[in-house]
Amino acid sequence: MILIVDDSPENIISLKKVLERNDFEVDTALSGEEALKKVLKNSYVLIILDVQMPEMDGFEVAEAISGYSKAKETAIIFLSAANTENKFITRGYSSGALDYIIKPVDINILLLKVKTFYRIYEQNRKLSEMQLALMEEIEYRKRAELKKDEFISVASHELKTPLSSIKGYLQLLERNIDKGNMPTLKMQLQKVQRQTEKLNILIADLLDVSKIESGKLQLQKKEFYIDELINEVVKMLQQLNPRYNIIVKGSTGIKVLADEMRIEQVIINLLTNAIKYSPGKSDVIITTQIFKDKLSVAVKDFGIGMPEEHLEQVFEKFYRVATSSLRFQGLGMGLYISREIIIRHGGEIGVTSIPGEGSEFYFYLPLNQPATEIESYENRN
Ligand code: ADP
Repeated sequence: MILIVDDSPENIISLKKVLERNDFEVDTALSGEEALKKVLKNSYVLIILDVQMPEMDGFEVAEAISGYSKAKETAIIFLSAANTENKFITRGYSSGALDYIIKPVDINILLLKVKTFYRIYEQNRKLSEMQLALMEEIEYRKRAELKKDEFISVASHELKTPLSSIKGYLQLLERNIDKGNMPTLKMQLQKVQRQTEKLNILIADLLDVSKIESGKLQLQKKEFYIDELINEVVKMLQQLNPRYNIIVKGSTGIKVLADEMRIEQVIINLLTNAIKYSPGKSDVIITTQIFKDKLSVAVKDFGIGMPEEHLEQVFEKFYRVATSSLRFQGLGMGLYISREIIIRHGGEIGVTSIPGEGSEFYFYLPLNQPATEIESYENRN
């Protein structure tokens, strides 16, 4: 929008008409004070300012406007009839004007100038937008870089811990092997095995994250009994965690069409989390049910729980609840991978939790898969 400031209404009317005829939106002010009030309220691309006005002259208006942050992109053209001496023109420019036109105004020249200012204004606006977008991008990249450094340091630590432990036990084994104390040797070998398995899981998770990122996580679907899978996983985890009591509730008796290894990975992840995040407690409950056309699996613990604001974010890559992250080892990959696996099956995953009382993670899998998928699998086999 253009603001014309002139104390003579006739001047304003004729200029306004010409500009409006050329599709410019025009506003007017009959005094410097009125112009300042309008500039505070509205945004103008250009102000055409008469120099000779009673009370506040054009120079004073321009000087005041140059102090307004709202008008820092606004161009000012002075119109002057009398003060054509160089010193007035110089004052005009130094008070913030971009142009100084002497009356009588050649309307075609003024129009060309107005168009040029509009073009410059548009270009400036686009430049500012681009600058803002660039700054945001730089900030985003800086934050991502910082997160990556942080991740590398935590990941190296997580990988080094089992590795140091393996090294330690292997040294002990080497020293003890001649003594032939079988139970001790066996115990130390088991420890090596456990730590190796930990390393294996960590590396497999890292590879899974990278597969997800590059869209290469493939599902190998086949039909299997979900109850059997759950019972096997529970048996294995119960052996590894004798202090805990993993309770299986419900049985469905149905076969699901899914990637068995990937669904097993999700269940193991939810159960190991339930155990890991409930120190000092013993019960963990896994419940399976059928709801109409979907299978639901829920893992409930009575552990530390989580505040509401983390419930969405725990499924994000590398997200860990800060208040508990120092107490428990981890890289924040398990739930991210689990969510991806469930979503890729057309299912849903979620959690409800109360701090200090426990959490319940659940997922749903759709049951009525298109028959063709089952057939195509059977044909392949
Ligand atoms: P990790 O356990 O390696 O940190 P996950 O992706 O499995 O990674 O979990 C992400 C975060 O979610 C954990 O760091 C923890 O803060 C929170 N979390 C997951 N499971 C539970 C649970 N059963 N109880 C409380 N917090 C949990």
